[in-house]
Amino acid sequence: MTEPTDLTRSGDIALCLDFDGTLVEIAPRPDQVRVDPDLPAALERLRARLGGALAIVTGRPIAVIDDFLSPARFDVAGLHGVERRVDGIVSGGGAADHPELRARLAGLQAAVSGLESVLIEDKGASVAVHWRLATPSDAARAEEAVKITAAALGSAYRLQLGKAVGEIVPASATKGHAIRAFAENPPYAERRAVFFGDDLTDEKAFAVVNANDGVSVRIGAAETIATRRLTDPEDVRRLLYAWADGAPIDPDALPPA
Ligand SMILES: [Mg+2]
Repeated sequence: MTEPTDLTRSGDIALCLDFDGTLVEIAPRPDQVRVDPDLPAALERLRARLGGALAIVTGRPIAVIDDFLSPARFDVAGLHGVERRVDGIVSGGGAADHPELRARLAGLQAAVSGLESVLIEDKGASVAVHWRLATPSDAARAEEAVKITAAALGSAYRLQLGKAVGEIVPASATKGHAIRAFAENPPYAERRAVFFGDDLTDEKAFAVVNANDGVSVRIGAAETIATRRLTDPEDVRRLLYAWADGAPIDPDALPPA
């Protein structure tokens, strides 16, 4: 009797997954992330089980996720939802859509140029400053520089602070918006959203998921509004690989947060 129940349940969920700190361990530099070799194929198998309703929701550009998960291709909300690809069709912002941000980039670069181990990641429609490897004083100066730039840009943009990163993003871009946008399209529509994330920016997605009777899963020990919790990316992969290989898909059974 368990099999029919399981099939019904897997057909009911739309699975949205953060990338860094959720599917892969956070690396000292964003380009040093190591992807478990089994991950792309396992996500493809799981997507098939879910009738296609599996998406990556990330601060990274879609193209970077494609590189990390190659040769697999997934639906992705990139840059916190600024850009989105569903069933191969891309929508959202490019660099040309953000002249005000482009105009401020040189000033931001100049402000952090003397700081060791501070990196600017130019994503076109958003700009991230990373200070994970910087000294505390350089980290503070980097954070100050990105705050000043964000403030100068006014209300069309906002500053999003994460783990040793400050990112200037279009004001409308949040992972919560991204989850809502997926829910407007098949195969995501009419399904219960399940979202896994590890960072402050994921809390906005948890809020949307909770408000729609979905399941929110926080990775790691931090305080959260998510209702469920897993320990680390290894824990996440273990679960997703089991789901990919036929284990019952029951996110309500995950440990409470
Ligand atoms: Mg993350």
